[in-house]
Amino acid sequence: MTEVAARLQGCQRRLTLAALATHRNATEITLLAVSKTKSADAIREAAAAGQRQFGESYVQESIDKILLLVDLGLTWHFIGPLQSNKSRPVAEHFDWVQSLDRLKIAERLSQQRPRHRGPLQVCIQVNISNEPQKAGVSVDELPAFAAAVRALPGLQLRGLMAIPEPSSDPLQQRQPFARMRALFDDLRQTDHQIDTLSMGMSDDLEAAVAEGSTMVRIGTAIFGSRV
Ligand SMILES: *Cc1c(COP(=O)(O)O)cnc(C)c1O
Repeated sequence: MTEVAARLQGCQRRLTLAALATHRNATEITLLAVSKTKSADAIREAAAAGQRQFGESYVQESIDKILLLVDLGLTWHFIGPLQSNKSRPVAEHFDWVQSLDRLKIAERLSQQRPRHRGPLQVCIQVNISNEPQKAGVSVDELPAFAAAVRALPGLQLRGLMAIPEPSSDPLQQRQPFARMRALFDDLRQTDHQIDTLSMGMSDDLEAAVAEGSTMVRIGTAIFGSRV
């Protein structure tokens, strides 16, 4: 077994245990492998071990890898900051964008999405810890922003994503995740296509699952540290 395959198995085990601990079914939680800065070969190893969904943060390197690995039929999620002058390759090559937080970019992605690919699946990023200069819409802006995104024909709104302020205390980790869960439940009341609450990374997966995450985004614990 390759090292990536072994680490992947370790993450699946963590996910299963975290789900069990809060009486959830692990099959309702998607493991997104965050492969930013990692080589196409590392992604191939993870794919050979059964991983299908990958997250990337940097436009140029991710497009190179997507084109190189097109034979594998993987699903690609853009999860990083997106500048409007780089929206076109993302609209053309990704399946999901989870870091949507500006209407101008949402409009461009909708316009630039090739018809034959169907709508781009999107999550709105929420600045849940209210950190100045951090990406994401504020909680106050969320309802209006969600309504505007829903109106765009090239996008399909699937849910919310957040990167809370890091904390090493498991109880403190849960607070922003619980606030996200409440926002997610509100949004779902009016829109039945909403099914994705993307939260939890290598260091806080358990807290996120306990609060209802449906997708955890794991980089370091699968591919090793990024230096
Ligand atoms: C890098 C990144 C991750 C993965 O973080 P790890 O701590 O390596 O698991 C998850 N989400 C986003 C948005 C990221 O940029």
